[in-house]
Amino acid sequence: MEQEEQFSSLSNLGEFGLIERLTRDFPIKQSSTIKGIGDDAAILEFLSGRTVVSTDMLVEGVHFDLSYIPPQHLGYKAVAVNLSDIYAMNARPTQITVNIAVSNRFGIEYLDKIYEGIRHACEIFEVDLIGGDTTSSYSGLILSITAIGEVDENKVIERSGAKENDLLVVSGDLGGAYMGLQVLEREKTVFKSNPDAQPDLSEYSYPIERQLKPEARKDIPELLEKLGVQPTSMIDISDGLSSEALHLCKASDLGVRIYEEKIPVDPVILKLCEEFKISSTTIALNGGEDYELLFTIPLEDHDKIKGNPHLTVIGHMCEKAAGTSLVARDGAEVPLQAQGWNALQQDQD
Ligand code: ADP
Ligand code: MG
Repeated sequence: MEQEEQFSSLSNLGEFGLIERLTRDFPIKQSSTIKGIGDDAAILEFLSGRTVVSTDMLVEGVHFDLSYIPPQHLGYKAVAVNLSDIYAMNARPTQITVNIAVSNRFGIEYLDKIYEGIRHACEIFEVDLIGGDTTSSYSGLILSITAIGEVDENKVIERSGAKENDLLVVSGDLGGAYMGLQVLEREKTVFKSNPDAQPDLSEYSYPIERQLKPEARKDIPELLEKLGVQPTSMIDISDGLSSEALHLCKASDLGVRIYEEKIPVDPVILKLCEEFKISSTTIALNGGEDYELLFTIPLEDHDKIKGNPHLTVIGHMCEKAAGTSLVARDGAEVPLQAQGWNALQQDQD
């Protein structure tokens, strides 16, 4: 772990002092928040529509490695990955709660930085921090966030709504977060054998940013609304394209064809894949943590999204009996597998 300039023990403040310090400067902005932090429970009021709730837990050593994720980024990422689930319902996030378990190996200044990241995310995504819990842990750091959002009843998008012949569309590009992790892991190994190494990582800034500071695609539901497109099903890509596409198929009781040549991968990531001798298709399918949105739209809406730089049609839904497969560049059909990102990690070990 990076040496902190200052280290003030958590016990100096006590539980209540710590909560007060961490949660100051979180102004309430949403009209649905009646009462935020400070009572036994927050009070919310949603006057119409549907309320969506999603929660995620990040565990040190499982989901993140403190030797390379700066605490501000960790706070930001923890919020962003939760909000990504809210956007995947086509909802607008409104509030979050934050649960944190820490050991005394962390100083107050370190927690301040995590909350700096959380505060930054609250500002960018316009959500209120309305509560949480603070407790101690004997070993690692655990950060669990719950996000709440709202959506019109007729606008909510579930995984189960896809129809046969719908187009499968993805936002942004894939594989970046996984390659960012590969770069960071490599540098960590180099650093361990030579602590004086000063790596120049500037050429890897895109993948590293995708890994350490992922963005929830707030802009995509807004863009689709503007284009007059209502997806029939949607999911966010946390585990990899393959696994998420299979979730849509299962929930909608359909099959899918994904065309390898259509999968969007940034040129910087393609180059990095060559350097690491790994297939860009494999990492796009199984890499995970890209937090892009994957959704289906009726074929009739193709013209509305055609040529949009943020959206790529990568395939189409078909009847269940036709199965779920990737159509390779040579036309061969390969069954899609939900390897997910943990499996990929183990493969490489
Ligand atoms: P209780 O004992 O009733 O659980 P706490 O003392 O744990 O209350 O919390 C006091 C207030 O501070 C509550 O509003 C709670 O939601 C909020 N809170 C506690 N920990 C956190 C945290 N880590 N982040 C944000 N809010 C928190
Ligand atoms: Mg409590």
